[in-house]
Amino acid sequence: MSTEHSSGSRPAPAPSLEGRVAIVTGGAKGIGWATVEALLEAGAVPVLFDRDAAALDRASGALQARNADFLAMLVDITDEAAVEAAFADTLRQRGRIDILVNNAGIALRRPTVDLSSAEWRAVVEVNLTAVFLCARAAARPMIAAGRGAIVNVSSIMGLSGGGLYPNISYQSTKGAVVNLTRALAVEWAGHGIRVNAVAPTWVRTDLTKNLMADPELVRRIMDMTPLRRLAEPREVADAIVFLASDRAAMITGHTLPVDGGFLAQ
Ligand code: NAP
Repeated sequence: MSTEHSSGSRPAPAPSLEGRVAIVTGGAKGIGWATVEALLEAGAVPVLFDRDAAALDRASGALQARNADFLAMLVDITDEAAVEAAFADTLRQRGRIDILVNNAGIALRRPTVDLSSAEWRAVVEVNLTAVFLCARAAARPMIAAGRGAIVNVSSIMGLSGGGLYPNISYQSTKGAVVNLTRALAVEWAGHGIRVNAVAPTWVRTDLTKNLMADPELVRRIMDMTPLRRLAEPREVADAIVFLASDRAAMITGHTLPVDGGFLAQ
């Protein structure tokens, strides 16, 4: 991979992703959309994969209004054939895949004794199996190019047992993503591919709107967070862009909490 070097005598250049093609799963809204905006500002060509057609239309309209170079694809990332086709389509249209942000995720928060095996499998399919499918599809052209960066979106729930409400399929899959990140980083390091993850605390998005409707729960979350607030989508996006950039050239296999100190306690 090409790297940015700082001599120490002059400031390092701003992280640039000029011309890099960056796929973001679940890119149409929430943290994924904030990541698309941050990638665009860094000069990348964002490629949005999402299953929410209305959100994808809104995102496409916003990007067109900015005269951005981008692609938007309606794809369910649990569908292996659809994933393969979307990666092939991206390569056909833009000729390269430099960055993958494995962001799409779902949660089914129920007491474990009430969680059906079908519900368990549905969460595993999106939060874990699709991460594998997309990483595999991205790695092939990245290996051919001898460079690439993958950033997975885990959660503080992948590094702790939670406690405010039951969410076993989410905690299990997000924990698995932490170790998948380590293992793929080791497997692909020789090909110039870095694999890292972020572990955000709570962010106000569609995924958490039911939780955020409970002011007592929000107060407890803030009380449990040293910085006493939730994270903004852009704060997670900025960490993702850093890990995807050459500024993070020596970082691979790690999960960076974006958590206001939650996990430091
Ligand atoms: P969000 O607002 O619900 O956005 C996620 C997007 O991904 C949605 O458009 C969703 O579509 C899409 N998606 C879900 N499953 C998909 C699939 N199978 N194929 C294609 N697209 C799919 O969620 P978010 O809060 O931004 O979360 C993004 C990531 O951050 C997730 O991995 C989440 O676990 C993680 N995270 C979030 C928080 C938080 O507090 N928000 C905290 C820690 C980690 P649908 O709406 O149709 O499902």
